[in-house]
Amino acid sequence: MPHSHSVPPHPASGQLPYPDADLLYLQDLLSPAEYDKLLTARAFFQSEVRPLAIDYWNRAEFPFELLPKIAAQRIGGAASMSHLLGGLIHMEFARADTSVSTFYGVHHELFRAAIDQLGSTDQQRDLLPALDSLESIGAFALTEPEHGSDISRGMTTSARREGDEWVLNGVKRWIGNGTFADYILIWARDEADQQIKGFIVESSRRGFTAEPILNKASVRIIQNANITLDNVRIPAGNWLPGTRTFRDTNALLLDSRVWVSWQAVGQQFAALDVARRYAADRQQFGRPIDSFQLIQDQLARMLGNATLSVSLMVQLARLQETGRLSMDQAALAKSSITDRMRETVALGRNILGGNGISTDFEMAKIFADAEAIYSYEGSHQINTLLVGRAITGVSAFE
Ligand SMILES: Cc1cc2nc3c(=O)[nH]c(=O)nc-3n(C[C@H](O)[C@H](O)[C@H](O)COP(=O)(O)OP(=O)(O)OC[C@H]3O[C@@H](n4cnc5c(N)ncnc54)[C@H](O)[C@@H]3O)c2cc1C
Repeated sequence: MPHSHSVPPHPASGQLPYPDADLLYLQDLLSPAEYDKLLTARAFFQSEVRPLAIDYWNRAEFPFELLPKIAAQRIGGAASMSHLLGGLIHMEFARADTSVSTFYGVHHELFRAAIDQLGSTDQQRDLLPALDSLESIGAFALTEPEHGSDISRGMTTSARREGDEWVLNGVKRWIGNGTFADYILIWARDEADQQIKGFIVESSRRGFTAEPILNKASVRIIQNANITLDNVRIPAGNWLPGTRTFRDTNALLLDSRVWVSWQAVGQQFAALDVARRYAADRQQFGRPIDSFQLIQDQLARMLGNATLSVSLMVQLARLQETGRLSMDQAALAKSSITDRMRETVALGRNILGGNGISTDFEMAKIFADAEAIYSYEGSHQINTLLVGRAITGVSAFE
């Protein structure tokens, strides 16, 4: 049933028109109960996450005090939630802050999802409750210092079976949550059959070390780590039985690419939110700058990009519902939406003038965080090459 729509009053009253910037009324695609859930999530992200994020981002620290509050939201926890609602909630999370949304995505969409989809019943019974309450935190370690885009081909981290144990050796890079996670899902090549498999490694294991990656200019709240595994011994039961070859990660990586594409939409609405508020308040030449045609042109381009992006994601959610989504569509979304995102955040940064490069004004954080989204979960080029393969039938990178 459609929700009632009325275009809110002019900014002179303090409130901007279309406060959520949903000009297409995409909210109509949700049931009233789902829309209520979206509004509850948005209010939580905007009131609890967003205000903390600027200072934590500047200090490159993680807001641990948010964990119980995030857990109570049960984001993505309900199996009955539609893909569209789940996606829009991820979008709203990134709209408030991309680092905290990435923390949760790595924990929930990668580590928890791996246990849920590929783990044994014992692993699920032992790990899932504390993962859901965020009393235990997970990380997902695929990338290595010498292998990023070509990790499935070049992985050097090794796993050797010795009796009732596995012995892991290697180095991982960029691992989100890696400095404080309780469990790290390590992807390693089995020396016996040369296949890539997943192993749950407790961070307390002897031979495991995690060094923080310092001085990042993007997603500074996320605690990324370089991880070293020096003859780390784990019980045989720590191998994820659903991971016999790298291909077994396909469904997992498909879902996480969709999640990151929703992030790239949220990033654009975040830029739009900050830019149009600023443009309504900032006076030059004796009037608010949002009354200038060139500022309106930039705001219209930002909204156009964000709206095109969210519209594409709505169709992806439909394909997920009917089980027809493949990596072709997920790569198309990641590739094309992150292109739009880069333009959108650059326009937003410009609208704030000099204040657009000060991290005290939020926009510089949004601008910088877009760069991480552009490069992770398959870089822009790799996703573009996947689309190229889909439409030509020819792989340019394998
Ligand atoms: C903030 C952040 C968080 C991350 N979190 C995690 C995490 O939790 N776990 C994890 O495992 N990894 C994580 N990563 C790693 C991420 O997945 C990699 O950065 C990504 O896969 C790219 O790999 P790379 O950085 O080694 O770049 P490279 O693969 O070295 O690529 C360098 C450049 O070359 C381009 N390129 C590569 N191959 C080709 C080609 N065939 N044709 C054209 N261009 C090409 C790329 O697009 C890129 O522009 C994270 C990264 C960042 C920045």
